[in-house]
Amino acid sequence: MTTTVNAYAATQPWGSSAPLTKTTVERRDVGPNDVAIDIKFAGICHSDLHTVSGEWGDVTFPMTPGHEIAGIVTEVGSDVTRYAVGDRVGVGCFVDSCRECEFCQAGEEQYCNNPGMIGTYNGTGRDGKPTQGGYSDAIVVDENYVLRIPDSIALDKAAPLLCAGITLYSPLRHWDAGPGKRVAVIGLGGLGHMGVKLAHALGAHVTVLSQSLKKMEDGLRLGADEYFATSDPDTFKKLRGSFDLILNTVSANLNMEDYLGLLRLDGTLVELGMPENPMPIPAGVLIFGRRRLSGSLIGGIKETQEMLDFCAEHDVTPEIEVIEASYVNEAYERMLASDVRYRFVIDNSTL
Ligand code: NAP
Ligand code: ZN
Ligand code: ZN
Repeated sequence: MTTTVNAYAATQPWGSSAPLTKTTVERRDVGPNDVAIDIKFAGICHSDLHTVSGEWGDVTFPMTPGHEIAGIVTEVGSDVTRYAVGDRVGVGCFVDSCRECEFCQAGEEQYCNNPGMIGTYNGTGRDGKPTQGGYSDAIVVDENYVLRIPDSIALDKAAPLLCAGITLYSPLRHWDAGPGKRVAVIGLGGLGHMGVKLAHALGAHVTVLSQSLKKMEDGLRLGADEYFATSDPDTFKKLRGSFDLILNTVSANLNMEDYLGLLRLDGTLVELGMPENPMPIPAGVLIFGRRRLSGSLIGGIKETQEMLDFCAEHDVTPEIEVIEASYVNEAYERMLASDVRYRFVIDNSTL
């Protein structure tokens, strides 16, 4: 038995002639450890767009994206202990993992290697069926992969925290962003604007590196101390050797040599954006300056809860544009054109 719910899905690789369309998806019955969630809002992440466009490899169509999910619990399984009907909850980028490998045991389920986390969409559930994401009316998830949304955070604003929020919080904490640290965020989009807010709340000195100065006023209002246009070659001369930590949130290829050169001795550039194509890195820029290049993937369940509680405590929430579900294709086009301020969030009552 399953329940049929409204959804938006891609039926083939996304493009202007192959938009997401209205459809339905099946949700499993609530098992002993499951929580059923009435999805109120779903954020639109650039990863949704990479995935439905086929830029990251194989997609099982039809596919409903969405891994920034906020809603209300409508039913709980007989063995569920943490959640009750009526609770405000969220679901992020994964809905299960092996629970046994060293990374799952350490609460870093996103790095599960046995064989890997089960993505909220375009994954394969324990029942062998393709997982379907948050652009839908409801979802059923094991309680261990559900987050509690603090009362002070509105559900529409909570949704983007489940991916954009944790993806920036995790590296900021891992690399000890705080007072006395100079942090740069490349790209002021969904991820980037959360990076600015979170780094500022952690007490770091924050610089935005954006393509132009068009969003400078916003960037400074969101908590940046400085703002530079990367279209101006002087930016790279002026800022050479200045940052302890650079978070690259850009969804397209950059000239990495230029950006790595902005790190000071022992500084780290963390790659968060995942463009379709590889980016060459000349060894010299790493060697002369003992610079480091890393990556970081979302965050584990424990750290995601910590991030939500941090955001509630420090009043950190995303800037959002709430849209009707039928606007999703236009939202994708605008995201591709860097015309997003700063996260689209679907009102799922319009599905
Ligand atoms: P987004 O809202 O579209 O923001 C990306 C920003 O990058 C744009 O707003 C723009 O900022 C800048 N940008 C875009 N195209 C550019 C270009 N050609 N050259 C220079 N800058 C450009 O996307 P998002 O949702 O924040 O996601 C960003 C990336 O992170 C995507 O690749 C996504 O898949 C990835 N991601 C990774 C993780 C992870 O765990 N590592 C999690 C979520 C998403 P400006 O206008 O300010 O220049
Ligand atoms: Zn995402
Ligand atoms: Zn595991």
